[in-house]
Amino acid sequence: MKSIFPSKIIDFYKKETELNIIFFKLLGTAGIIISFAGAISSFFTGSDPANIFINIGAAIASAALIMFVDRTGHYLIGYLITSFTIFMGLFGMLFFESGGLYGSMPYFFSFGILFTLLMYKGKLLVFMEVLHVSFYVAIAHIAHVHPETVKTFDTPAGQFFDQVSGIVISSVGIGIIFMMYLKEYQKQQKIAQESSNAKSILLANISHEIRTPINMLLGMNEMIYREAENRQIIEYSQNVDTAGRQLLFMINQFLDLSRIDMGKEEIFEENFNITNLIESLRSYYKKEADNKHLDFVTDADKELPGFVIGDVRKLTQILMNLLSNAIKYTNEGIIVFGIQKLAEDAESVTIHFEVSDTGVGISKEDQKKIFESFERSAIVRQRGIEGTGLGLAISGNLAKLLGTEIKVKSKSGEGSLFWFDLKLKKGVDTGYDKATGETFIAPDARILAVDDNSMNLTVLKSLLRRTLVRVDTAQSALECYEMYEKGNYDLVLMDYMMPDIDGIAAMEELRRIDKRKGKNTPIIVLTADATPERKKLFNEKGFDDYLLKPIDVMLLETVLIRHLPKELVTIVEKTDQIDIPEETLGQFKKILEKYDISFDMAMKHLSGDIMQFVRIAEVFVERAEGSICELKELIRSKEYAKAAYIIHSVKGNSGNVGAQDLYYNARRLEKRAKDGDGKYVDAASELFFMEWERAKEGLTKFLEEFEKVGVSFKTAKAEEVLDENALMEKLLEAVRNGNQYPALKTIDEIEAIRGKMPEISAIREAVKDIDFDRAEKIIEELKR
Ligand code: ADP
Repeated sequence: MKSIFPSKIIDFYKKETELNIIFFKLLGTAGIIISFAGAISSFFTGSDPANIFINIGAAIASAALIMFVDRTGHYLIGYLITSFTIFMGLFGMLFFESGGLYGSMPYFFSFGILFTLLMYKGKLLVFMEVLHVSFYVAIAHIAHVHPETVKTFDTPAGQFFDQVSGIVISSVGIGIIFMMYLKEYQKQQKIAQESSNAKSILLANISHEIRTPINMLLGMNEMIYREAENRQIIEYSQNVDTAGRQLLFMINQFLDLSRIDMGKEEIFEENFNITNLIESLRSYYKKEADNKHLDFVTDADKELPGFVIGDVRKLTQILMNLLSNAIKYTNEGIIVFGIQKLAEDAESVTIHFEVSDTGVGISKEDQKKIFESFERSAIVRQRGIEGTGLGLAISGNLAKLLGTEIKVKSKSGEGSLFWFDLKLKKGVDTGYDKATGETFIAPDARILAVDDNSMNLTVLKSLLRRTLVRVDTAQSALECYEMYEKGNYDLVLMDYMMPDIDGIAAMEELRRIDKRKGKNTPIIVLTADATPERKKLFNEKGFDDYLLKPIDVMLLETVLIRHLPKELVTIVEKTDQIDIPEETLGQFKKILEKYDISFDMAMKHLSGDIMQFVRIAEVFVERAEGSICELKELIRSKEYAKAAYIIHSVKGNSGNVGAQDLYYNARRLEKRAKDGDGKYVDAASELFFMEWERAKEGLTKFLEEFEKVGVSFKTAKAEEVLDENALMEKLLEAVRNGNQYPALKTIDEIEAIRGKMPEISAIREAVKDIDFDRAEKIIEELKR
């Protein structure tokens, strides 16, 4: 019995989750106790019997009230009854009974005020507060004007004790109530923090788990794409690739966000060339804008410093988010990417970045929300434009980490402007840059790639094909030790996650071998997980660098440029390869298609490097004549094994230039030639030679056209800066010769100097339409 009773009582209070109700019940209980105590003391001091009854009545009433509230849940009624009976009725009576303004009651009035503040909400709170204050002021006034209504104390000591008890009880009571509320608040905050952390950890784990299989799917799909013969399957595989990459992008966003939420994102500063960063963003997003028929202008300060020190990955991520949003949410008009130097001193420079568009805009209401996770503007949701609503949340947080804030100014239907100012330390000119993805060739360099997954090795090799680096592969740590002992490698790419012996242990063994040989070979770890802890671990263990899987070809090249011996590397400027207008590319495509050469596929193999395509096409055409003769001769003399060797190389080259039919033909023929199936080879080679001639003819036509439009490796490279008049002359010349590409490029340059002008836009349109006469006329008029 004993143990049940108190626990029941405790339960009576504890079962409540709302602090207000607990507080109310405790107050009622205090009322019961005080009233009983009053009744007992009245009984012993022999005062008025009515006092005893009043006290007992008050105790019963208090008990009844809290029981009623507990049973019915009508808390508000309980609060109101308490306010009127206790804090006004009882307190008013006691005020006149015990010394009025000079007794303890004025101190107790603060309980009435506090009770009102805690228990009511909204208008009722204001009303009750005003009512209480007015009531207390009114009775104070009555006591002041009509002192006879107040019962004074018999002795000064009585008055002193009454006042002291008022001071002590009210201050301690208010203190306790304040503490209770504070504790509760802290508890709630902790719960909120914990649940948010738990959410982040869960999100990070799930996202990470999903990423691995998706990477595998994408890799497998890449294989299907390369091997497939059926056009339909190739198309399906392209769709899988698009969807997979989108999914990967979203998952990476989740991961980013949860890492930021958990406070795991750290600043990682490096030296980089800001002008190159801007250029690479410009060239990428200009193309994206072109695809949507939007104008894209970069307004970059001429006074920008070259090299700066900062977290280039975070800065790039923010800018990419702002630029891709600007393009995504704009259907017509212009995107301006502005970069201005705001201030500079000996050590640092402050740069203003802005991205403006003429798109759908963001209402005032939505502007407040878009930097929160999963928040998207009403208009964007209505129109069903795809997106997660995470980009700006991530960018906003990254900006905070970089010590700045992204601001937005926008008007619905008119466009948006996003900007931020960033202070960066001045860097050192290293001659080459990390962030821009410069490309290179290094035919004399040798790399050892170690990964237990052969598919990854194949992908890695194909990614590096255009750099002409020689890549040897090993599928286990043990295999790599053996090769490393014998070979003389300039760099090692080492997978971290390998069964049996992991990347770290393998790297340590290679270092031992190096020590014996007196070498110091750069070893780069490949990892699917680049959390700051992991990065630190890799660094401490002695890796020279890391690369995130799935491997980004640009980053891969950047890292190789950084670590390969300088004398082996020839930097190829990226500007040689980019910026061919869509129209021109379309022309090329059409020519090649006629000969069943897929330009897209070739570009995919060559990571979009058109100059590399030109080089390979030249080699292909050059060698074809001789090789065809040689192969014919071999077949005639039935030397099939030797023939297979030539067919093998045709297979490789035709794959590289996207001559699909020739490629499949070669694949079959090579196999039969190897098997010595002379009958088949003799019969099938006819068709093979025909395909070969066709591919050669197609590539020859392409090269002629390429020459005509004037894109040449040499001319695109070094170009002196021209003034506006000279540029106009150059444009006129290009237009007269019907050279579309140089014309468009010159128009870009003119616009870069003069800004947008309707006349220039008209010339651009005419050139795009291949109406050179019209273009020439406009230029002539403009010159006058
Ligand atoms: P997402 O683009 O995936 O929805 P973001 O976090 O990048 O996510 O952007 C959040 C929202 O902010 C977008 O859904 C869109 O409503 C709005 N927004 C961002 N940039 C622009 C812009 N340039 N123009 C109009 N609305 C924008």
